[in-house]
Amino acid sequence: MRTPIIAGNWKMHKTLAEAVQLAHEIREATADINGVEIVLCPPFTALGAVEGVIAASKVGLGAQNMYWEEQGAFTGEISPLMLDGLCDYVILGHSERRQFFGETDEGVNKKIKAALSHHLIPIVCVGENLAQNEAGETAAFVGGQVKAAFAGLSAEDAIKVIVAYEPIWAIGTGKNADPATANSIIGLSIRGAIAEMYNEDVAQQVRIQYGGSVKPDNVEAYMSQPDIDGALVGGASLKTESFVALVKGALVKVR
Ligand code: PEP
Repeated sequence: MRTPIIAGNWKMHKTLAEAVQLAHEIREATADINGVEIVLCPPFTALGAVEGVIAASKVGLGAQNMYWEEQGAFTGEISPLMLDGLCDYVILGHSERRQFFGETDEGVNKKIKAALSHHLIPIVCVGENLAQNEAGETAAFVGGQVKAAFAGLSAEDAIKVIVAYEPIWAIGTGKNADPATANSIIGLSIRGAIAEMYNEDVAQQVRIQYGGSVKPDNVEAYMSQPDIDGALVGGASLKTESFVALVKGALVKVR
């Protein structure tokens, strides 16, 4: 049984005060919800303060990125050593990082290894762009991204990784992928690639989220799919009401 997981990627939103307020509201509103892993990923500037708000609650904390080196002359970067003990998760290889900041499959793989060696659970994003989707290249492209991400990981580490399937054309656009289609990409291309690298047992243990315009009115359709274990959410994670509705939507998995 894979525990469902809803993660909010706040991206470059929220001042310190706004982040504290949102985290506080979410902590209160989710206190009685059981069976769903909840993760908030505020900007780096708010990680420490949000950690203070959600400490001793069921809400987990994640960073949105990190570099792979532990320390050194890397101006502007945050290291796994700095996140170790502060948060539990880190989003890696988000398409915005790949698109706007030149992140490569090779760099994402290094970051995954660095995260795992510092007790951080990587949430690794993969997904095709519109041209690839329209050209029928999704399965091959996404499968390749997964194999590059997991390269060199032991089976023991592989099962700790969370994958987020996020078609780029669905992120922040309001055009969400068809739930059954997303389920089949996740089941065949993502779990399939992991099964090829390891075995079916490992593939069945890895948790895989869908991301891309998930909203309260469509979350249950995703969570009802057998291979979709959760959602990575941008826009709808920025307000308490919509984020809590997503967490409640994930309860379809535990009913
Ligand atoms: C994301 O950025 O990971 C995302 C899925 O954004 P949105 O929910 O806004 O599409």
